[in-house]
Amino acid sequence: MLELEHTRELLIEMGLVSAAALLDARLEAAAKGELTYLSFLSGLLDAERQERRRRSEEVRIKLSRLPHRKTLEEFDFTFQPSIDARQVKELSTLAFAARKENVILLGPPGVGKTHLAVGLSMQALRAGLTVYYATLPQLIADLKKAEQTGKLERRMKAYLRTNILVVDEVGYMQLDRQAAELLFRIVCTRYETGSIILTSNKFFTNWGELMSDAVIATAMLDRLLHHAHVINIRGETYRLKDRAKAGFVTVPPAAIHPAVL
Ligand code: ADP
Ligand code: MG
Repeated sequence: MLELEHTRELLIEMGLVSAAALLDARLEAAAKGELTYLSFLSGLLDAERQERRRRSEEVRIKLSRLPHRKTLEEFDFTFQPSIDARQVKELSTLAFAARKENVILLGPPGVGKTHLAVGLSMQALRAGLTVYYATLPQLIADLKKAEQTGKLERRMKAYLRTNILVVDEVGYMQLDRQAAELLFRIVCTRYETGSIILTSNKFFTNWGELMSDAVIATAMLDRLLHHAHVINIRGETYRLKDRAKAGFVTVPPAAIHPAVL
């Protein structure tokens, strides 16, 4: 089987590693199934392409640093009637990312903001786009450290080069002036050049206080909201639903988080 060995070598040399690995089995199946030359070839190349896409998706998922891999299919829209399922479905077409628009998810803790942000991200990764996820405290700590060590410009690029940047958990941490300016730079640089999916438990009216600077907050919101899809979730926390099922006494979310919204 010199010819077989030679063919395998050629495939490997041309970078068609999966096709090379599948060659034996595919040849056998082709002989048994009496496949035409053309369908044998296209089947082998299809398998190569599929494997490449799978690997590329896996690499992009890892690089995205998403906290988990929950999908939109796993989201129960009947539990959260304040969310317009059609709007999320429209967003899942990723037209927003092609148009470099933003998605802002607002609501109290536990209502599914991170889940939806990750679900949309997973959809984007499946479609071949790149995503980078960070909570706001992570992002600020990372950029402050980079600034101290003179690596700010390089780190900024990591937040600017992906198709979608997820900034999760805006609102839990009060930003000082330096932090507000770093976030402002990111929002400005991505403005109309890349999408941001942002989640927050605070209404926009509270952002001045949150950023310790009303002028920066206003300028940031101006850019963020210019082309944005805002989803305002006013529901109960899903976490308590599970606790109720397990027999725990449930406390209304408002009693636990009186300061929220
Ligand atoms: P938030 O970011 O708004 O605080 P999360 O997205 O982290 O909330 O949701 C809390 C938990 O509840 C997660 O495990 C999430 O997957 C789950 N969850 C929230 N809402 C839903 C929902 N409508 N359907 C299915 N799971 C949900
Ligand atoms: Mg969250």
